[in-house]
Amino acid sequence: MKEYNPTWDLDSLFPGGSASQQFRDYLGQIRTEIKQLEDQFTTLEVEADTFSTMLTQFIMELEKTMFKLREAGAFVSCLSAQDVTDEGAKTLVAESGTLSASFNGVLTTFMQKLAEVPDEEWQAIIRHEALQEIGYVLSEYRNKARDLLAVEQEVLINDLAVDGYHAWNQMYNTIVGNMTVEIKGEEKIESYSIGQASNLLTSSNRATRKQVFDQLNDAWKEQASLFAQTLNHLSGFRLQMYKHRKWENVLKEPLSINRMKQETLDAMWTAIANNKQPFVAYLNKKAELLNIDKLSFYDVDAPITDQVKKLSYTEGAKFIIDQFRSFSPKMADFAEQAFEKRWIEAEDRPGKRPGGFCTSFPDSKETRIFMTYSGTASNVATLAHELGHAYHQHVMNDVHGLNQRYAMNVAETASTFAEMIVADAAVEQAETAEEKKALLEDKVNRSVAFFMNIHARFIFELNFYKEREKGFVSPARLNELMVEAQKEAYQDALDEYDPYFWASKLHFHITGTPFYNFPYTFGYLFSLGIYARAKEQGESFEDDYIALLEDTGRMSVEELAMKHLQVDLTKPDFWEAAIELCIKDVEAFLKL
Ligand SMILES: [Zn+2]
Repeated sequence: MKEYNPTWDLDSLFPGGSASQQFRDYLGQIRTEIKQLEDQFTTLEVEADTFSTMLTQFIMELEKTMFKLREAGAFVSCLSAQDVTDEGAKTLVAESGTLSASFNGVLTTFMQKLAEVPDEEWQAIIRHEALQEIGYVLSEYRNKARDLLAVEQEVLINDLAVDGYHAWNQMYNTIVGNMTVEIKGEEKIESYSIGQASNLLTSSNRATRKQVFDQLNDAWKEQASLFAQTLNHLSGFRLQMYKHRKWENVLKEPLSINRMKQETLDAMWTAIANNKQPFVAYLNKKAELLNIDKLSFYDVDAPITDQVKKLSYTEGAKFIIDQFRSFSPKMADFAEQAFEKRWIEAEDRPGKRPGGFCTSFPDSKETRIFMTYSGTASNVATLAHELGHAYHQHVMNDVHGLNQRYAMNVAETASTFAEMIVADAAVEQAETAEEKKALLEDKVNRSVAFFMNIHARFIFELNFYKEREKGFVSPARLNELMVEAQKEAYQDALDEYDPYFWASKLHFHITGTPFYNFPYTFGYLFSLGIYARAKEQGESFEDDYIALLEDTGRMSVEELAMKHLQVDLTKPDFWEAAIELCIKDVEAFLKL
């Protein structure tokens, strides 16, 4: 069997790593292009007869520069992930960040320009032959700009946000980065970073989990007053901004980022809330398997066995390619090519950033995947997940640049789909009953994360914002709100909850994207619905799937589901059918 090389090839993009002269030149080119865009922009007159033609021309240039910027951003993120000590990479990250900021400036003023166009003329413009294809995105830009304050005020908000808003997020990261916890090992007490300690929470030893959980809890408790500051101030800034823009619903921004309706979100959570019982039964069963009365928060992710076989990188790769092939030969060919051309950095070595990601190079139409592969079943799943993202980007290569941007909720569709194919195949092909049980448990546990853990985050955030509107929310009250949300989401199935989860979960402190939770659950259930359709339809599904992916960047999720799956996302039916698939896994698990 031919062995695949687990390190990636970045030199084929820009030779020389962070010292690449070719990449420096590329950044220089982007700088020039942004300047040209700014100049060209000043000649764009809404009243002029030639507006449509000039707009088309401007968008063509905008698209080219956008591709280059994304390419540069992808390259620097690969450089800094592969070696955290690469100082040259850090300088390049800052440089490409500055370029992005000035490009966003052009984009914002461009959006405001579109808002100036009167309604009737606008309809004629987006019917223009060259603009029809990107009509949805252009109208979205225009509507967004119309929802904002006057340009000068928005510019002021943006400028103040650097130190008054996003800084709270950085402050959070700094405090967490400096925290350590002491964990008693077999011989001595050792000091761990928060990330390292959190990894110990999946230990198969309950005493270890309990100790780590308690120590982490104490660490969060000690800093709780600081985290209450970061959380209250960043949400306070957000609420003030919304108030001035006259946005009454705190979900307005996250829903619009995810191009979805409130009715869809409500239908999804209602379907989940109505179907929790099987998952509660699963948690009770898991408690029994672990020989305890009731699970605690730190038991939910505990392994029930360590009997799962490990796969070498090449074995994992072949397994993924084979499973993809049974669903879609095109997807399998793509994955094979990614392994052969070394688009994946998977080597298990020190000095790499933790976690995994997939990033695209739209200018050279390539992708790169980053992760650390040590042969576990969850590594194979992650690899398949990232390849799903890469395939999504691959089919997007030929659509207009403005139509290539898809939101987080649909971004997780292709990745979850790919992961599901591989996870199901692994369960089917398990060699022992013990292994089968463990793999199935892993699958069910993922549903628990999306239906319970993420649900708790959503309930908490919504309730927190209601109280924050009235004033500062104390650490003690934040704890109460968190435990109440967890009890509701887990239906009282746990013995002990995690009161400081509002402090420990980074996602609550991200300023770039509010409500960094429900899009995960959406993506999971949406791709389950597609997966069920794929199994039903067989071979002919491949092209339908590609067509669906190609549309993910140019319509709302409701339109996407109606067009490709003929389902109404605002109604509970679709969601219930998807949850039903997860319940089947629970039933199979309980039988074993
Ligand atoms: Zn993902």
